[in-house]
Amino acid sequence: MTALRLTGLSWEELNSLMEAWGERPYRAKQIWSWLYVKLARDVAEMTDLPAGLRSRLQELSPPLAPQVLAHQLSQDGTEKWLLGLADGARIETVYIPDQDRGTLCLSSQVGCSLSCTFCHTGTQPLERNLEAAEIVEQVTFVRAELTRRGQKLTNVVLMGMGEPLYNYDAVVKAVRILLNGTGLAIGTRKITLSTAGVVPRLVQVGRDLGINMAISLHSVRDVVRDQLIPLNRKYNVQALREAILAFPLKHGRCITWEYLLLKGVNDSLEDAQALVAFLGDIPSKVNLISFNPWPGCTFEPSSRERTLRFQEVICAAGFVTVIRESRGGDIGAACGQLRALGCC
Ligand code: SF4
Repeated sequence: MTALRLTGLSWEELNSLMEAWGERPYRAKQIWSWLYVKLARDVAEMTDLPAGLRSRLQELSPPLAPQVLAHQLSQDGTEKWLLGLADGARIETVYIPDQDRGTLCLSSQVGCSLSCTFCHTGTQPLERNLEAAEIVEQVTFVRAELTRRGQKLTNVVLMGMGEPLYNYDAVVKAVRILLNGTGLAIGTRKITLSTAGVVPRLVQVGRDLGINMAISLHSVRDVVRDQLIPLNRKYNVQALREAILAFPLKHGRCITWEYLLLKGVNDSLEDAQALVAFLGDIPSKVNLISFNPWPGCTFEPSSRERTLRFQEVICAAGFVTVIRESRGGDIGAACGQLRALGCC
């Protein structure tokens, strides 16, 4: 008997399923509400469904939440969960609370095939893509945890383990479930997809989802970017820029460029000026990220002074430039530091 992943069904698919089972149309609405408003972890909780329908769903549906294998809480409030999936695969999900928002960093694959040299996840080979349900359940699981404590999950970033655009269909399906206004209702402005630069998918994802786009850039010189992100050998800096120029950016939005500052690699004033020239008139925000070393990695973080000088150059050119303070470093949850997470 094939398992029925309720959290992997779109609203339309859930309606079709109820129709195919001869159920009344409002049953889909009830189930959707249990999944995404009441954040049920098991079909057994859906007490307003008729017993027959509930037991049919129970028979087919695995638990609605991943298994928690470990949970760590940082001094700065960042939390990391190691989650076990049905086939034994493991992923990590990180929650970063701020004054006015709570951001969840999601994984889209188990491991990653891109081997970015600064990223700890890049040392973990790709095991498999996550299913849409496994992406959605990271959100429902953490939101349920937070709701119980009176905390909020307001934003989602697809910056965890894996390259989201290499798991395109599942990611698009999952994000559409997160966006659905009668369920989780996380708006397009509150969801950000981060990519290492899968050029052929960029315009398409902009059209399909209309969410925020972040690009792991880290250098605008091919000779450097080739070393940091091997995918650059396939889609170089120029190809990436052209794809972004064609990106269907919504009014008032901008592209976020993630730039990890590495001592002596990409942090000179010339690098900063080259970045300004690259950005040109693309509506842009730049996130400067400090590098968090991990065992076996030869890169070093840029000094504070160099980081500030780099920021000055980008700001002077009129771009909002934020130095992203490291979060969760004491629990191995910071950017680039994680064994199971990493897309900066
Ligand atoms: S930075 Fe992102 S794309 Fe690159 S290896 Fe890490 S997880 Fe994969």
